[in-house]
Amino acid sequence: MKTLSGLNLSEIEEITNSLGASKFRARQIHNWIYLKSVKEIDEMTDLSIKFRDELKKVAQVTDIKIKVKQISSDGTIKYLLEFPDGECVETVLMRFDNRANLTACVSSQVGCAVNCSFCATGKRGFIRNLTYKEIVEQVLTIQRDTGLKVTNVVFMGQGEPLLNLENVLKAMEIFNENFQIGARRLTVSTSGIIPKIRELADLDMQSTLALSLHAPNHETRLKLMPIEGKYPMDELHKALKYYVDKTGRRITIEYLLIKDLNDTIQAVKELAAYLKDIKCNINLIPYNPTEKNDYERPSGKSIMQFKSLMEHSGKKVTVRLERGADIDAACGQLRGKVQ
Ligand code: SF4
Repeated sequence: MKTLSGLNLSEIEEITNSLGASKFRARQIHNWIYLKSVKEIDEMTDLSIKFRDELKKVAQVTDIKIKVKQISSDGTIKYLLEFPDGECVETVLMRFDNRANLTACVSSQVGCAVNCSFCATGKRGFIRNLTYKEIVEQVLTIQRDTGLKVTNVVFMGQGEPLLNLENVLKAMEIFNENFQIGARRLTVSTSGIIPKIRELADLDMQSTLALSLHAPNHETRLKLMPIEGKYPMDELHKALKYYVDKTGRRITIEYLLIKDLNDTIQAVKELAAYLKDIKCNINLIPYNPTEKNDYERPSGKSIMQFKSLMEHSGKKVTVRLERGADIDAACGQLRGKVQ
């Protein structure tokens, strides 16, 4: 049984060919999947009942299940999705009241090998990569469930996207071509996998790169992110320069603000010096305590002081709006609770 979601037009044509139908039928099916987000083949009403019955014998719309769905008072929807092998990932739909944008935050791996100390997903270790179809299916599931059209996709869910780059790139191509989501509305985040940042730079894409930096120096970053041992900040800096020079694109720097660890005046100075010659915007994410660890959220005053001192360095700085705080916060939490 083939699953139609995630297939491109030529793959759908292979199915319609095998049923002796024209390429036009494949185009119709493609539109029903990607533009109209149907749940069942029987909803493809411009196909004859006879053809739908034949199609149902060899194909289904999806094989993904919504295991848990949580809706926040701010409109954020968090899903725990289950694949046929029983593995689960989280996918989040974020809506921003003042904008028409609907942003899907997708996962790229089951588990994660990077093991950041503040992250629930990392605790589980790496299980497997998601296929490009499984990545695409996350957005299709949101569209089918809500009836809404996703306008932006960020690869900031579970997993390190650059350690599954081949599938991530293929999924981005499908988002671009099949969902008609512009490349500039696609964001790939990374914990700093240097060779893959260079590879991405050489592809010269229009998408946005977000780097989870989270620390102003090697020692602090090593405490938070063991990946710093393999790809240290000074080497990372060269890769970021290479990316900006090659693509001309501005990088987004993600910085988790943790009380007394990386939110001090000294930290701002070091961070400003590190990013001085990197074309970037900075996104501050006040830590939201969810796990049993020693990290604490800085006070509102301290967050605003960090922001304004950082702005003095000439960078655009935003504090990330908290989404879905009443349903849960850190990635991996929902899966952890259910399992
Ligand atoms: S924060 Fe991201 S990169 Fe780090 S362990 Fe969690 S999923 Fe992996």
